[in-house]
This record gives sequence, structure tokens and C-alpha cells, in this order.
Amino acid sequence: MAVLITDICINCAACIDECPVEAIVDEDDNPTGEDCYYVYPDKCVECVGYHDTPACAEACPTEGCIVWADCVEGMPCREDISEEARANRTPVIED
Ligand code: SF4
Ligand code: SF4
Repeated sequence: MAVLITDICINCAACIDECPVEAIVDEDDNPTGEDCYYVYPDKCVECVGYHDTPACAEACPTEGCIVWADCVEGMPCREDISEEARANRTPVIED
């Protein structure tokens, strides 16, 4: 799953251009049909090799909107994030 955008997303578009691998789509292209932005888990690299923290979460103005989710096999995954934090869908940025 990589990182996950939750339904508290306000569709502000601040994250989409920050993603170095174009893993984010807007509500019109969300394959789940939900009315919010979406991260393709098979594209997201958790910004490994690009930034120290996920750029989408750094840019997002909505507190707790972008959360850690499970690693995707074969994709870059931040080793310093615990399984528990991922299982609990902990916000990437906690204020
Ligand atoms: S964590 Fe990085 S690679 Fe993943 S969606 Fe956010 S900006 Fe894109
Ligand atoms: S920056 Fe946050 S609130 Fe704005 S579209 Fe992206 S995930 Fe949604």
C-alpha cells in the first residue's frame, strides 16, 4: 500500500505535483470511486531516493490525511517505519 490518502482529503491538489513518480491521481481518476485523491500503491516509492520524508505528506495541509500503509512487495519501503505504525495507519506527518 505504501502511503494512503484517507477520506479526509479536501481535494486541494497540493500533493499531486510533489510526487516524483506520478503515483497520485485526483478524485476524477480515483479507481476506488471515492471523492478524494488516491495513491497508486504499485507506483509509490515512499519518496525513497528522492526525499527524506514523503513529499506528498509534507505538502498536504490537511492534518493526518496521508497515512502509512503496508509495504508493497518489490517496491521501495522505508525501513524505519514499524509494522505497527503501518498497520495502525499512522499519519505520515503528526502535528
Ligand atoms: S510518498 Fe512520495 S512517491 Fe509516494 S505518493 Fe507520496 S510523493 Fe509520491
Ligand atoms: S494535499 Fe492532502 S488534502 Fe490536498 S489533495 Fe493531496 S491528500 Fe488531499
